[in-house]
Amino acid sequence: MKKLHAEHDRQLRDLNTLALPAVAELFFDTRTEDELVLALQHCSNIGELPLILGGGSNIVLSGKSIPACIRIASQGIRVLSKTSEHVVLTVSAGVNWNDLVEHCLHAGFYGLENLALIPGSVGAAPVQNIGAYGVELDQFVERVHCRWIENGTRQSYNAEQCEFGYRDSVFKRQLRDKVVITDVDLRLALFGSVNIEYAALQQELGKLLDPSPAQLRDAVVAIRRRKLPDPDTLPNAGSFFKNPIVSRQKMQNLREHYSKVVYYPTASSDEFKLAAGWLVDQAGWRGFNAGNVGVHQEQALVLVNHNHAAGLELLELAARIQDSVMALFGVELEIEPRIY
Ligand code: FAD
Ligand code: NAP
Repeated sequence: MKKLHAEHDRQLRDLNTLALPAVAELFFDTRTEDELVLALQHCSNIGELPLILGGGSNIVLSGKSIPACIRIASQGIRVLSKTSEHVVLTVSAGVNWNDLVEHCLHAGFYGLENLALIPGSVGAAPVQNIGAYGVELDQFVERVHCRWIENGTRQSYNAEQCEFGYRDSVFKRQLRDKVVITDVDLRLALFGSVNIEYAALQQELGKLLDPSPAQLRDAVVAIRRRKLPDPDTLPNAGSFFKNPIVSRQKMQNLREHYSKVVYYPTASSDEFKLAAGWLVDQAGWRGFNAGNVGVHQEQALVLVNHNHAAGLELLELAARIQDSVMALFGVELEIEPRIY
């Protein structure tokens, strides 16, 4: 039987993009599925539920001690099947998401361009059904392969079973803390058809009405580099709050009081999506700083760690923002990253 190396009292500050401190009493870095199964067995034997870690770009470490943490670092991208129009890839959970986007563009596999530069791992992508600029992961998912945390048993789920929603999936709900995603099968097109529905993309592309997939990726990358702080220089977890979905009645009330409120239709004619960034900005938080934490000047949805902040400091600021948005607009802001 192979042995797996465990680190004791591993500081996780360098493994999350908010650079928040927390200690994992036991830490496993797993590069293969065999290593993952051994680590799961170990956690099960000692009765601890492990924190499953990818790139650490969608978590908030409150500072509590983490009994066990398993980092998923498996690598591999292979072609499972190909027709004249599509390719299906099996991608290991530890592959960096943006590396996959680049790999696909170079290989002539299209569709992921709007999702360029999203930090994190392929394994975490189905958890919140990552999305940007009008494209969401679920458009490409064929199957998600998992191991049960409790006993290491394999199980896979088709797209319908993943119950994907807006920044949501079964992995955030019924299967939360139940399974580890080991591989994701993605179906991509061999001919590029680009989605430039978002005004920000159209502005960036200017006169280029029929961009190539590579030109679209370049536009996405340029906007993101301008608007979003790089976690390596200013630690953050991207959007801290989800865009709230509200009823038609609520939307009407808001429009009566705030003629400039930013909102979008959803798939349901009875619901509307509010731009959370607009709400936070209007509540006066953009550019606000308190102690070691703050709200980004260019994007009010992004909370930042200026200087060795603790998780609780950041969560206190988030709670103040939530309270003020509730008081002003009567709208509840839900925190997007998972808090540990
Ligand atoms: P982690 O932070 O490591 O984990 C997030 C959650 O997923 C945790 O609960 C973890 O336990 C779980 N998890 C991780 N790996 C696995 C696995 N293999 N199996 C089961 N559970 C797992 N998100 C968007 O949707 N769109 C964006 O445009 C976007 N832009 C961002 C920009 C910046 C600058 C940053 C910092 C973040 C952004 N995000 C965005 C959020 C984040 O990048 C994504 O949610 C990403 O998918 C998280 O990946 P990760 O590997 O870092 O996950
Ligand atoms: P933006 O372009 O300034 O737009 C503000 C908000 O309006 C976004 O949240 C977006 O919703 C919504 N929106 C804009 N045009 C829309 C349209 N045509 N139809 C429907 N909704 C529309 O947004 P941004 O903050 O610069 O972010 C750009 C994209 O990257 C967004 O898709 C955003 O979700 C994504 N992003 C996500 C994170 C994260 O951590 N989750 C971080 C950075 C960027 P959606 O958010 O639903 O797209």
